[in-house]
Amino acid sequence: MNIPIIISGGGLIGNYISLRLRRSGIQSKIIERNDELYNSDSGIRTITLNPKSVELLQYEGIKIASSSIKNIYAYDADGTGKINFSSDDIDSNDLSKVVMFNELNSALKEQNISNTLYETQIDGISYNSNNEKTEINLSDSSIYKTDLLVACDGKASNVAKIYGFKNTAHSYNQTAATFLVKADTKATDAHQIFSDKGIFALMPAPKGENIFTVVWSLDNKFLDTESLDAYIHSNLGHFEKKLGCSINIQSDILSFKLSSHYIDSYIKDSVVLLADSAHSIHPLAGQGVNLGFADADVFCNQIEQAFHKGLKINEPTYLKKYSIEREALNLIMLKSMDLFVNIFKNDNPYLRLARNLGLNYVNKSKLAKVFFIGKASGF
Ligand SMILES: Cc1cc2nc3c(=O)[nH]c(=O)nc-3n(C[C@H](O)[C@H](O)[C@H](O)COP(=O)(O)OP(=O)(O)OC[C@H]3O[C@@H](n4cnc5c(N)ncnc54)[C@H](O)[C@@H]3O)c2cc1C
Repeated sequence: MNIPIIISGGGLIGNYISLRLRRSGIQSKIIERNDELYNSDSGIRTITLNPKSVELLQYEGIKIASSSIKNIYAYDADGTGKINFSSDDIDSNDLSKVVMFNELNSALKEQNISNTLYETQIDGISYNSNNEKTEINLSDSSIYKTDLLVACDGKASNVAKIYGFKNTAHSYNQTAATFLVKADTKATDAHQIFSDKGIFALMPAPKGENIFTVVWSLDNKFLDTESLDAYIHSNLGHFEKKLGCSINIQSDILSFKLSSHYIDSYIKDSVVLLADSAHSIHPLAGQGVNLGFADADVFCNQIEQAFHKGLKINEPTYLKKYSIEREALNLIMLKSMDLFVNIFKNDNPYLRLARNLGLNYVNKSKLAKVFFIGKASGF
């Protein structure tokens, strides 16, 4: 059976792409490993969306509850550096929105139930250069032919592995803990503290009054002698003191091992990688899926243009525009996050002085702030 586009992975990005392309008249099928009812999270995890991602989702009619971040305060807890970004700096209502991961996932998934094959995955991929079709063998033994195979199957991408994309991966030797808390601090403020106990972020969650989400990245060495739960409970007071407010845990604590990776080149024959299948970064700036939505936007634009001009949807010049526009930008973001993680991990007093001076300089410069906010907004 021939399908114009096959998408491996029905997560946030795979579902967004399928929905958007359908609106343009381009049909696709999603291959999802999990069952229809599966949700990776029971309502604890949040996702921070930048204005560009919010705009893309609104355009597709995706409406879910969100909370607004109007101010971000970042501190170097061991030094004197601090910086704050405000939506006033850019004359906007907010800097970003926080949504529940499972609500966004369900809202996107609902739009694609009829064109998703659940509980199956790709076992084999072969490309026929004569007819430019890619043949796909699924784990349920069915076979499909497609013009374009799009990988949105996450950071351990099955498609990238099977089709031999070169992957460069790096472990941060850190764990991210995330959970919901009740905190008596302003509902539109987000805080990020860089300290020797880890990088601690507190952001408003769309879960009712005074409910915030914490994303706390800490070195694995702390977990050699105690459990993650014990570490969190015994060190939370440090951040309560720093922020001058009480913080009470309201949910289970979820954990993720932190690593980054990137694929050098996102296209091989008629196989294209997007979002976490192509790159993943440290969650400290909450940019992972925002880079994914930006990839998806550029990719869909190119496919739509080729389609509306009556060209093949796997037209190499159009696909190439996607990779040229996104590969370098994503790599720069990944390297910037790594630099941040290393600068704030380092105990060297000169480096500490430099980072404090740097934070304080940016804090005083409206131009520098507008530049950073612009980069994080996705526009
Ligand atoms: C602690 C933490 C906090 C984060 N916070 C933020 C944030 O605030 N803002 C932000 O922008 N990003 C954040 N991120 C990153 C964000 O979660 C990811 O970038 C995003 O989920 C990637 O979306 P995706 O659709 O590419 O992949 P995924 O969400 O990983 O979805 C992949 C899909 O593919 C399916 N799949 C996997 N393997 C196969 C297979 N073999 N065959 C078929 N299907 C398969 C999976 O079941 C899943 O449905 C955070 C990450 C972490 C770890």
